[in-house]
Amino acid sequence: MNYRAIKGTKDILPSETSRWQSVEQIIRDVFHRFNYKEIRTPIFESTALFARSIGELTDIVGKEMYTFQDRSGDSVTLRPEGTASVMRSYIQNNLGEAQPLVKVYYLGPMFRQERPQAGRLRQFHQFGAEATGSPTAETDAEIIALAIEIYRRLGITNYALKINSVGDEECRPRYKEILRAELKKISDKLSPESQKRIDQNPMRVLDSKDERDQGLTAHLPLIVDYLNEECATHFQKVKSLLTAYGIPFTVDGRLVRGLDYYTKTAFEITSTELGSQDALAGGGRYDLLVKELGGKSTPSVGFAAGMERLMMILEKKGFAPSDNTPTLFIAVADESAREWGLKTAMHLRSKGFKIEIDLLQRSLKSQMKEADRQQTKFAIVVGSTELANGKALLKDLSKHTQQEVSLDSLHQFLQ
Ligand code: AMP
Repeated sequence: MNYRAIKGTKDILPSETSRWQSVEQIIRDVFHRFNYKEIRTPIFESTALFARSIGELTDIVGKEMYTFQDRSGDSVTLRPEGTASVMRSYIQNNLGEAQPLVKVYYLGPMFRQERPQAGRLRQFHQFGAEATGSPTAETDAEIIALAIEIYRRLGITNYALKINSVGDEECRPRYKEILRAELKKISDKLSPESQKRIDQNPMRVLDSKDERDQGLTAHLPLIVDYLNEECATHFQKVKSLLTAYGIPFTVDGRLVRGLDYYTKTAFEITSTELGSQDALAGGGRYDLLVKELGGKSTPSVGFAAGMERLMMILEKKGFAPSDNTPTLFIAVADESAREWGLKTAMHLRSKGFKIEIDLLQRSLKSQMKEADRQQTKFAIVVGSTELANGKALLKDLSKHTQQEVSLDSLHQFLQ
């Protein structure tokens, strides 16, 4: 074949979409229970938005974005995540004007040119939420509880929630200086990647994936011990609310978010049922982002979660999607019955039933085989005799029973 899907992208096939739709339905339902409303932003935006919001020094902006010039010479980028677009829309559309707290969710494809592997794609899907306009710990706890509730509703129990506080613009610079001084003492032993980060982003050295780095930095001071009173109180409140909600968590002082506009709460949800790419979701508070993007200073907290990794777990667990198979297969024995069948199929569909009828002019025998293959609940066989009598046999294919029914009141039997 000449054409194949681009490396790192995947078809979600008809045999898989029922499961995706059922899962998406549950996710939406949980969002709605927490009164979050959906927002749909474009899948491409100006490159500058992501560079500003995600940060020039991150892997995403540095090497993973699908960026191109459109025909008018503007630099545009396929969105690598959702928050930047949501915040852009919040500012552009003045969403904060109508209500003090704006709670939105999104669900859709994201694009990053990463090295593809199990659980890591170049086009993948995320669902996520942002609560914009509230500085309170209650809002952080609600966002975390919302993410956890989605996994609970889907029957996922094997997850771990890690939380941390990354401080704010007052206490973090002080801590960073202390950390930077400590890192400089061991800089020649650190990985080249971490060495580069000491000046620009020392906290990211703490979450280095390099084992040697991890050993070398194991004893270094953590930000939780340097929080100012406001951040410490906020963190304490988030923890006590999670405990009150019955949500287990551990504090991981090395969980950091690299950028200056992240404040206070950071969290991550991982699963042991995944391989090396074990992160299901991540989020936190970013009180300084809206201002960074040119809006009025507005506190905000949110999370983003991967669909493909969630689907990997659910598939392993045998998550059963809601049933999409047709209720009735109309099998026809001759031309006059075919016309009746086609019209009846339309009529029953308009009444809300899922109906299949042969479009390949197959023999009656092949039609019945097809009904079996599709595992429809019922099949009816209609020929000229049945049409003349106004009655036919309705077969229940799972119970292997049949009964005579009137063709005029078929819908009553399908209820
Ligand atoms: P992030 O926006 O990087 O914090 O990612 C949030 C979640 O999206 C992660 O925890 C993953 O579940 C998922 N995710 C991120 N990148 C990818 C990718 N390249 N392929 C599949 N899922 C991803």
